[in-house]
Formats: sequence, structure tokens, C-alpha cells
Amino acid sequence: EKAPVTLLGLGAMGTALARTWLAGGHPLTVWNRTPARAAALSPEGARVADSAAAAVAANTLVVVCLLDDASVEEVLAGTDLADKDLVNLTTSTPAQARARAEWARERGARYLDGGIMAVPPMIGVPEIGGYVFYSGSRELFERHQQTLGVPAGTTYVGQDAGFAALHDVALLSAMYGMFAGAAHAFALIRKEDIDPASLAPLLADWLVAMAPTVHQTADQLRSGDYTKGVVSSLAMQVAGTPTFLDTAAQQGVSPELLSPYFTLMRRRLAEGSAEEDLTGVIDLLVRK
Ligand code: NDP
Repeated sequence: EKAPVTLLGLGAMGTALARTWLAGGHPLTVWNRTPARAAALSPEGARVADSAAAAVAANTLVVVCLLDDASVEEVLAGTDLADKDLVNLTTSTPAQARARAEWARERGARYLDGGIMAVPPMIGVPEIGGYVFYSGSRELFERHQQTLGVPAGTTYVGQDAGFAALHDVALLSAMYGMFAGAAHAFALIRKEDIDPASLAPLLADWLVAMAPTVHQTADQLRSGDYTKGVVSSLAMQVAGTPTFLDTAAQQGVSPELLSPYFTLMRRRLAEGSAEEDLTGVIDLLVRK
């Protein structure tokens, strides 16, 4: 007998989650503000509750996947959370997640926060690597790990309820840096007779080849020695920055995505060691 689940919120993500639990044979009770989205799952076996309160009352494990933290508050306000296992997969900030954990505790619920590292088409297809960060009650995570693992992989990152959101935002922030770099690269060739489709595989392979440098960064941060294992010194890299800026100017491309990083590299060189890696930039970002 598979564990029963209540799911509140049937947007693109909630609907994808719901389908995997239904396909996996978990009894599923759903509720959504717009009833049509819940009714659509009824032929697939979902039990449709006519209120959020009724859906919460149906099962101990209550998963919410709503738009934002404000909608979570709105939806759960009129429900009885006493003795519930509340798993909140709504994207939030670490501070919102911590406050929501306290809010749930005051209402007698156990709380686990989640940060979804997947888009809806990746849900239910574990081989393509989508997963969910979880933080908060370890006991709750262990009790429901199997059920929570049906839609996507599970990665527990700590008792601090804010840590799932923090890991989620950290990874996505790095992704935006990557998107910014790729945008600049495509802009450089835009006016030339170079097919973007011929640059794309080169770009993808290069980004993958460079990705493991994060391990060296972590190693340097842990040891405090930013010269450890350096292959390209800060001094050498700063000396190379005019090549990038001049090339951008020659190609008629704004340097606005690249310049902020170069500015930090130069500042670090001015106050730090020429033999360091780029790791010192991190210290410039962290406000004292
Ligand atoms: P959608 O916009 O598709 O769905 C939003 C859901 O929230 C709907 O069920 C909507 O109900 C409900 N909702 C919004 N406001 C309220 C409210 N005030 N009261 C009650 N219900 C409300 O979003 P997604 O399903 O894509 O995303 C859900 C969560 O998952 C978000 O936090 C998102 O950041 C996260 N996520 C999404 C990803 C994605 O690629 N889609 C990827 C990773 C995380 P209604 O149907 O009535 O409008």
C-alpha cells in the first residue's frame, strides 16, 4: 500500500507532481483554487477535495506547490495543520522558508521545505537528473523520502529550513551567470557570417569543460589559500581583460555583462596577491 498524499496547487509544476504520484499508485487528494485543474486529474484517479481545508484533513502528508509564499499563507490560513507533515515545494527565499517553518510549528505541524531543481517536463523522469532540495525536519524527510522521491530525486541539505531555498537560489544564480556569458558570446558573432548553430556545441562543451573549476574554488575557500593549484594567475587574467573589452568594442557589443566581473578582478588584484586564483572575488562580494 502506497502512502497517501494531499497536494495543494495544480499549476504546471503541481500537475506534473500529481501525475507521478497517481502513476505510482499513491492515493492522491488534490485541491486547486481554479477547480478545473483539479477536475482534470479526476479521470486519472485523483480525489478532488472541494476546499483546501478538506484536502488537508484527508491525509497526514500535505504537499503544497503554489505560486509564492503569500499564496501559501492564503491557502493554508483556513486549514487545520495540527499534527500534519507539511512539505512546502513553493519557491521562496531562505527567510520566507524559515518563517514558514516557525508558522507551521506554531500550528502544530512538522515542516520540510523544498526547492525544485527541475522544470515540469523533468518531473517523473529521474534519468534526466531533476531533483528537489529539502531542508527542515530530518525526521520528516526520512519518513517520506520514498514518496517524495517519486516525482524527482531528493537531496537533503540540513535542519535549517532556509537551506533548501538557499541551495536552490545559489545554483540558479550560477546558471544566470552562465546564461550571461553565453549571451555575450553569441553577441560577439552576431554580425559575422558565423552560424550560431556552429558556435553552440563549442560553447556547450567549453562550459562543461570549465565547470569542474568550482571544485578548486571550494578547496581554496576551505584552506584559505587562494594560490593553491593556480593555473591561470589573477595578474595574467587581469592583463588579458583589455583583449575581451577591445574585442567587444570592435564587434559593436556592449561589455555590460562582462565588465562588472572584470572590475572585481582588478579590485582584487589591487588589494590581493597577483599569484592568486579568481577566488578572492568572492570575498569582495560578501558584505562585512
Ligand atoms: P503556475 O503559475 O503554473 O501555478 C501557480 C499555482 O499557484 C496554481 O495552482 C495557482 O492556482 C496557484 N495560486 C497562485 N496564487 C494563488 C492564491 N493566491 N491562492 C491560491 N492559489 C494560488 O506555477 P508552477 O506550477 O509552475 O510553479 C509552482 C511553484 O513551483 C512555484 O513556486 C515555482 O517557483 C516552483 N517551480 C516551478 C518551476 C517551473 O519551471 N514551472 C521550476 C521550479 C520550481 P490557479 O490554478 O487557481 O491559478
